[in-house]
Amino acid sequence: MSATDGKLVIISGPSGSGKTTLVSRLAQAEPQRVWVSVSATTRPPRPGEQNGKSYWFLSPEQFQQMIREGQLLEWAEVYPGIFYGTPRQPVEEHLRQGKWVVLEIDVQGAQQVLKHFPDAITIFIRPRTWEELEHRLRSRGTEDEQALHRRLETARREWQQATLYQFQVINDKIDEAVEQLRRILHGNCQASQTSQG
Ligand code: 5GP
Repeated sequence: MSATDGKLVIISGPSGSGKTTLVSRLAQAEPQRVWVSVSATTRPPRPGEQNGKSYWFLSPEQFQQMIREGQLLEWAEVYPGIFYGTPRQPVEEHLRQGKWVVLEIDVQGAQQVLKHFPDAITIFIRPRTWEELEHRLRSRGTEDEQALHRRLETARREWQQATLYQFQVINDKIDEAVEQLRRILHGNCQASQTSQG
């Protein structure tokens, strides 16, 4: 982990897998250890999302400037024309402080981060079945049909990449899923193990 005591933890999973809730529950359960990275994005905020908490909401120009200045550890065009990226400096700082730095990023971003941090722990979060995911996405109702369709396509592609991750956590019951994450981070699971249910 490049001269630090911290751990870098990459958490991916399709939209609708509940990973954001899971990550914030993990942070509550491990407040001394876990620090969750705040990504930059060019997508508009959803109702209730606050700048600097959920994301840093940037214009496309501001985002491009961060890329040019090398301020992003990784970035990806997750949906057509919509960019997401991880600010580098706070990640490095929290790793230096010995934190467990959690990146909630997509599969493309995960591949980029692994090039710099090959020892990162990789965890894929998903519901038990595809049908359940589709149901969750449809019932969220925050998007029009076209945006929903795009999300479903991206989700299906992401799901197909699940086996690239060291661990898979099925997010059926949130308390159990949080415990599984904690066990993984405390090192009680063997790498390449699939943590199911
Ligand atoms: P949402 O717009 O629903 O919050 O997130 C959409 C997708 O963007 C999720 O799959 C999420 O993991 C991904 N994402 C969020 N932040 C980042 C980031 O900093 N980098 C990358 N590569 N993907 C991200």
